[in-house]
Amino acid sequence: MDVYGLLGNPVEHSLSPPMHEAAYEALDYDARYVTFETDPDAVDAALDGAKALGIEGLNVTIPFKETIAERVACDETARRVGAVNTIDFGGDDVTGHNTDVEGVRRALAHHDVALDGATAILVGAGGAGRAVAFALADAGAAVHVANRTTEKAVSLAQDLPAASAHDLDEVPALLSEADLLANATSVGMESDDIPVPASALHEDLAVFDAVYTPLDTRLLSAAEAVGAQTIDGAWMLLYQGVAALELWTDRDPPVADMNRALRAELA
Ligand code: NAP
Repeated sequence: MDVYGLLGNPVEHSLSPPMHEAAYEALDYDARYVTFETDPDAVDAALDGAKALGIEGLNVTIPFKETIAERVACDETARRVGAVNTIDFGGDDVTGHNTDVEGVRRALAHHDVALDGATAILVGAGGAGRAVAFALADAGAAVHVANRTTEKAVSLAQDLPAASAHDLDEVPALLSEADLLANATSVGMESDDIPVPASALHEDLAVFDAVYTPLDTRLLSAAEAVGAQTIDGAWMLLYQGVAALELWTDRDPPVADMNRALRAELA
């Protein structure tokens, strides 16, 4: 049996086990996906232990994505983002990847959102914000990053090929000319708050919300009400998992089964 898992703290509410195990079942693949709640002091021991035990691959979540990026051989995307969410133990080297970026790219592609030449407004410059920003910029969008703590928007914009940094109060004016709004703040998570004024939304926007608890955030409801296209946070979660499964195995991910399991868990 092959073993995969999730390294993080906390990990108890993770949606990755049901999503990946649905894939193993659909593929008739003898594998398990286990969560490993790890003490921050034990990250090196956990990496060595995982390799010694023959674990095939690990996802990485808060608070270890940046630490792991310093410990393993990163691919180019993980190196540029400065964070690893997927470790592959299968080769000679232990390699680190960032499939959150690919997750955003595929989530938007799945919904036919054109990014090349588009104007994108990103609110949020934390971990999710960095992944969204690189996905948008690498696909050819001009990215305007706005964040509550403006210095973090400035720092993120400096790491991107074509980007500018803004205060949150500049967002309504920026949105009037925009094709895409991406929320990567935690505003709306387990609450009815909205990260930008609903009055700034318009029907020519595609609106992506990284928040997935709940799936139907107030931002997405407000976007839908003005006729904008909406993409919920489960799509990013799904496709980062699909991309991880592709890295770890030579199997074709059963995307529909993984999506069904994920959404059943979120319902
Ligand atoms: P994080 O690193 O802690 O960043 C949080 C972000 O939210 C920062 O930009 C922060 O601004 C902003 N923020 C928090 N409270 C705010 C408020 N009251 N007003 C304005 N901005 C506020 O967290 P993260 O890991 O990026 O996660 C952010 C969200 O994305 C969470 O809801 C998480 O569940 C979701 N997420 C989704 C996926 C997915 O696959 N769909 C993946 C990862 C994360 P400051 O910098 O000013 O603090």
